[in-house]
Amino acid sequence: MTLRARLTAALLLAAAVPVVVAVLVLAFAIPAAAHHKTDADVLAARATAADALQASCALVGDRARVLAAAGTSADAQDTGVEGAGAGAGFAAAIVDGRGRTVAAAADAGSRAAQLVALLPTLPDCATADTTATAGTAGTRALAARVRTATGDTAVVAVAVDPALTGGQGLLGQIQQATGDGVTFVVPPGGTGTTGGTAGTVVVSTLTDFSGLTATAAAQTQLPPPSTALHVHGRTVAVLGLAGGSRILLSTHTPSGFGLVVVVVVVGLALLGLAYLLGRRLASSVTRPLEELSQAAERVTGGDLDFVLPTDGGGEPARLAGAFNTMTEALRRTITDLRTSRDELQRTVSRLGDTLSGTHDLDRILDVIVDTAMVAVRATGGALLLTAASGELLYLRAARGLDGRLPDDGRAELNRPVSTAGDGVVARVARTGEPVFGTVGADGVITAADEPTARTVLATALRSGGRVTGVLALYDRGDGQPYDERDVRIVESFTGQAVAAVDNVLLHQEAQRLSITDGLTGLWNYRYAIVALAREVERASRFDRPLAVLMLDLDRFKRVNDRYGHQRGDAVLIEVAERVRTVVREVDILARYGGEELILIAPETDAAGAETLASKVRDVVRAHPVGGPDEEPVLMTTSVGVAVQPLHGDTARTLLRAADAALYEAKAAGRDRWQLATSTAADEAVPVPEPRPVG
Ligand code: GH3
Ligand code: MG
Ligand code: MG
Repeated sequence: MTLRARLTAALLLAAAVPVVVAVLVLAFAIPAAAHHKTDADVLAARATAADALQASCALVGDRARVLAAAGTSADAQDTGVEGAGAGAGFAAAIVDGRGRTVAAAADAGSRAAQLVALLPTLPDCATADTTATAGTAGTRALAARVRTATGDTAVVAVAVDPALTGGQGLLGQIQQATGDGVTFVVPPGGTGTTGGTAGTVVVSTLTDFSGLTATAAAQTQLPPPSTALHVHGRTVAVLGLAGGSRILLSTHTPSGFGLVVVVVVVGLALLGLAYLLGRRLASSVTRPLEELSQAAERVTGGDLDFVLPTDGGGEPARLAGAFNTMTEALRRTITDLRTSRDELQRTVSRLGDTLSGTHDLDRILDVIVDTAMVAVRATGGALLLTAASGELLYLRAARGLDGRLPDDGRAELNRPVSTAGDGVVARVARTGEPVFGTVGADGVITAADEPTARTVLATALRSGGRVTGVLALYDRGDGQPYDERDVRIVESFTGQAVAAVDNVLLHQEAQRLSITDGLTGLWNYRYAIVALAREVERASRFDRPLAVLMLDLDRFKRVNDRYGHQRGDAVLIEVAERVRTVVREVDILARYGGEELILIAPETDAAGAETLASKVRDVVRAHPVGGPDEEPVLMTTSVGVAVQPLHGDTARTLLRAADAALYEAKAAGRDRWQLATSTAADEAVPVPEPRPVG
């Protein structure tokens, strides 16, 4: 059942209950009210009829008294009788003691003779409207009797029966005053008996009065003046006359059925109207809901651009507005998700390209941090690698951390962090377990030298079961703390990333080994040759001086011979270390071969080179070489010095000149330096070969 149908039914029910109740109440009340009114009308008619009767009786009484007082003479009696009997329905007579009529008169229009003949037997007008008493057939008229001074009786009568009046008479007056049905009934037999059988209808305004007459006349006792009878569809009031005659005042008893039908029809019409209104109301109430559900279906189907109209005001408009806001938020969220998915895709593919395609460690580390940040929506990230000893970590890549660090606020690369500390990074490096959550809660504590952040996630980078670094991510963009899922996301690609980092480190180490000398840690011959070529070229291009110093330890063979080869090695290491202390950062000190070193000093002219050579010579012989339990050996060195452009402007000529100068220094007695004396032709002499090491 639809909401509209339910709502319609509810509204119809709400309207139907009062309508049905009203129809029922009216259906019962209307006939009752109609009966009540008819009763009142009929009884009022009866009262009017009784009043008219009283007035007529009063009139005949007055006339009788006047007639009685008229006198005893025949003339007077005739005149009196004439006056008293004047008028339609009236009759008058003087009756002597023996019942003989002395004088009589009746209205000319009346059935005068008939009425006069009745006069002696007529019941007394004064008993009208009382319980019937014995009387005669003369109850069609009522009389008043007054005794005269001579013992006669003056009788004056008024006809009730219109037949006796030749016109309307008293009954006509009553009918005029009361309307509707008036029926005049005389008792059966016409002579004073009452009750038992139906009387004779003398006159009636009704065409069908038989049942009415029978019932009304059958009443032994006259009903009280305030009671109406209901007989054969008529309401009847009974007025009793002297002599047992009765006047029935009746009217049709309304059934009220017609009104009830009208009420029921109106009730049904109201219900129909209520149904139509209910439908209309229900549809106006449910329309916004239907629109909303249709809109929801469209949005569910992917139409996120659909917008509900918000005109019309009220709750539906507010609901539509809220729906539009929700759709807008959904659209934004989906756009955000797509954007971040695309970004993640790009970043991951860049990570793949970088990991497989480059040996640039810094770039790889940067891309690892970038990828991790995008993957977990971090606003800052750092990658630290563990030093070989395992006690220190070095910051190797940092993103979005400027301003979040103490001191000058900059994320300074290669800053060391001790793994012994309490901070997140140190903890992860020590335990190998990830740390994540809200800083200050969840047991997450950052050290003073770590970036300030509200939330952090740090995981260990492992290689061969060893922690080789830590990847730390700070503050999600949406403000939420990190959770286990974020850890899994980061760890899903760090394994591969670490393998790539290891590869690069291995590669770097191999490269480093190929250009350094394993014993002294100085650059090796190979590197020295490449570096010299580079420096010579640069000095030529910028027209700058460059010095080349060749060193050879004096009588080194003797050390080997006397103390063994191993001690010789130690002496070599010590001498290399001493020379390193007197050269600049930019100078290139390399082991040229055996116990020979070469020093390439950019931006150094002849004077500078002589000073440098002197320093080198002095530092080697400054004090004897040897450990606490060893016999000290005083070592000296000879140095040959050549300067560009003075002694040559190619690597080859410079080397040759320096070597020649070294030879001269040896020849001159060793423990000294010698500046090259001449410029040798480039092609003539071969470059001095490195002496074999060891
Ligand atoms: P001088 O140069 O003063 O003429 O005498 P010298 O005894 O130093 O002679 P030379 O330079 O010709 O000898 C080099 C010696 O150095 C030869 C070799 O036994 C020794 N030697 C070369 N390389 C190494 C090395 O790596 N370790 C050790 N212990 N000895 C080396
Ligand atoms: Mg030598
Ligand atoms: Mg030597």
